[in-house]
Amino acid sequence: MTDKTLEKQQLDKFKQICDEAGIKLTHQRLEIFREILSSKDHPAAEIIHRRLQKKMPTIAIDTVYRTLATFDELGIVKKLHVMGERTLFDANLDQHHHFVCTRCKAVEDLYWPEFDSTILPKSFNGVGQIQSRHLELHGLCKNCIKETGS
Ligand SMILES: [Zn+2]
Ligand SMILES: [Zn+2]
Repeated sequence: MTDKTLEKQQLDKFKQICDEAGIKLTHQRLEIFREILSSKDHPAAEIIHRRLQKKMPTIAIDTVYRTLATFDELGIVKKLHVMGERTLFDANLDQHHHFVCTRCKAVEDLYWPEFDSTILPKSFNGVGQIQSRHLELHGLCKNCIKETGS
């Protein structure tokens, strides 16, 4: 499957979700969604806003915040809190984990199906019902290793 057809599928799904939720598909909402979809770097709201300003100079940061909150409620994007601080947005809804660079704060997707299907220790039952698994791994990314020479 090419990237183009995948993008078309994701856009169609997005339109369908908005339709079912009774949310009007405005130009701004569509552009915000497209922007997140095309960014693989888990951008923060401020970064998304800055990128959108190139196409829509008058877009307000509040609009971006509000739209992202709506998308999050609808399950269109996932809110991601890395290193316990920054709120980032992820349009990749497939089960995956994250690697966070402690130096440049870059976030990369990691897939680990074996981990996802591992039977959890019995002792975990004590906490309640586990519904999802997410690992956050920390370290130095390839670029930072090159730059620091370590
Ligand atoms: Zn880095
Ligand atoms: Zn991700």
